[in-house]
Amino acid sequence: MAEKTKAEKLQEELCYDAEHGMKSQMDDKEVAKADKFCEDYKKFLNEAKTEREISLWMKEKAESKGFTEFDKTKKYKAGDKVYRVNRDKAIMLAVFGTRPITDGVKLAISHIDSPRLDLKPNPLYESEEIALFKTHYYGGIKKYQWVTIPLALHGVIVKPDGKKITVNIGEDDNDPKFVITDLLPHLGKEQEKRTLADGIRGEELNILVGSRPFKDDKASNLVKLNILKLLNEKYGIVEKDFLSAELEIVPALKACDIGLDRSMIGGYGHDDRVCAYPAAEAVFNVKKPAYTVVTVLTDKEEIGSYGNTGLDSFYFSYFLSDLAECFGACGRDVMSKSECLSADVNSAFDPTFPEVMEKRNVSYINKGVVITKYTGARGKSGSSDASAEFMGKIRGLLESNNIVWQIGELGAVDAGGGGTVALDVARHNIEVVDLGVPVLSMHAPFEVVAKIDVYSAYRAFYEFFNMK
Ligand code: MN
Ligand code: MN
Repeated sequence: MAEKTKAEKLQEELCYDAEHGMKSQMDDKEVAKADKFCEDYKKFLNEAKTEREISLWMKEKAESKGFTEFDKTKKYKAGDKVYRVNRDKAIMLAVFGTRPITDGVKLAISHIDSPRLDLKPNPLYESEEIALFKTHYYGGIKKYQWVTIPLALHGVIVKPDGKKITVNIGEDDNDPKFVITDLLPHLGKEQEKRTLADGIRGEELNILVGSRPFKDDKASNLVKLNILKLLNEKYGIVEKDFLSAELEIVPALKACDIGLDRSMIGGYGHDDRVCAYPAAEAVFNVKKPAYTVVTVLTDKEEIGSYGNTGLDSFYFSYFLSDLAECFGACGRDVMSKSECLSADVNSAFDPTFPEVMEKRNVSYINKGVVITKYTGARGKSGSSDASAEFMGKIRGLLESNNIVWQIGELGAVDAGGGGTVALDVARHNIEVVDLGVPVLSMHAPFEVVAKIDVYSAYRAFYEFFNMK
């Protein structure tokens, strides 16, 4: 190899460009570790799709790892592992550290709700001997993406006596699935004149659920009746029970490798399971941490974190206060000393749509875990905006552990915007920055991430929890 020129040497010393993780940082052994980690991640993607399923999945995994339900009247010591579930839709997992809790805790917070279609309270109707469900979409979706793909139904129905029925149809290979129809192109000329945003309208997101009548010629709406009969046989429910249900329509798509080189994973709801899973793995695998470490998997982020299972609720600060009080400490003192990685995804640069990105400050797949200093829209509005001090500290952590990382803005200035739970964390005077995985086709029914980035996120959470 030719000797480096003066300029080349100086460039190496002074200039910065984030690089593909395999270029200089990750050898074949590290890449193999990333690939292996992602095999388990794919399994998780297929086994738990909704906030309820994920909090249950995590609770069961936590118990198998020696976590017990937190009891604030009990005494705990370093290395003890506890969890608290909030209303079956959020879970907090903690391992007590060797340092006093008054030194603050290390938090990783991610959300386990994903964009989807919720059934309306009165969903079932019949039109021209076709039975359908009405839906109301949840979170930011491009509605046209949700038609003509296989869909599954997940959720719960609660009877007036409190009996809860769990529903999961469409995930098993033998299960029937659901679909939203679209117009054929032959007759779509007028529809095609609509804008893309209006191409499929909210009230057109109707789910196909049946087409055979109950055999009786003395009543109307016999297809709907037949569907109700089937539901009654399977779940013991009647039409009125839909009124007290939470039923969610999600893509019935399995996660799989993408690309001839198998470098990527396609799947529903990477946002934010691709951060939730590594953040949970970090708390499961950390050994005798110095600081008390806490992973929070929260609900409702996609609709603004409102509600008592979203991070706008005090449930999460109550938990930290209870942990503090266990050691005779004051909750707000502990929170004021705490630090948090708000574990959420960012938009990856898409070569097909470069115009909404600013190339020097956007994140790229395979360049590792992405730190997002600020989110927001129209001049950082609605953002928590991490301090230079905390950015420096996290940068030091990633660099000293040789973790592949990059910086990322959500998009070009004024191209759009978004937010995360970072501001709900900052409210409690906790130091916080967004750190997560870059995603292609974010909020689509089938999103794409790179395996190297998923593994880098895991390493970032793990080493954060390992800080001395
Ligand atoms: Mn998210
Ligand atoms: Mn999102």
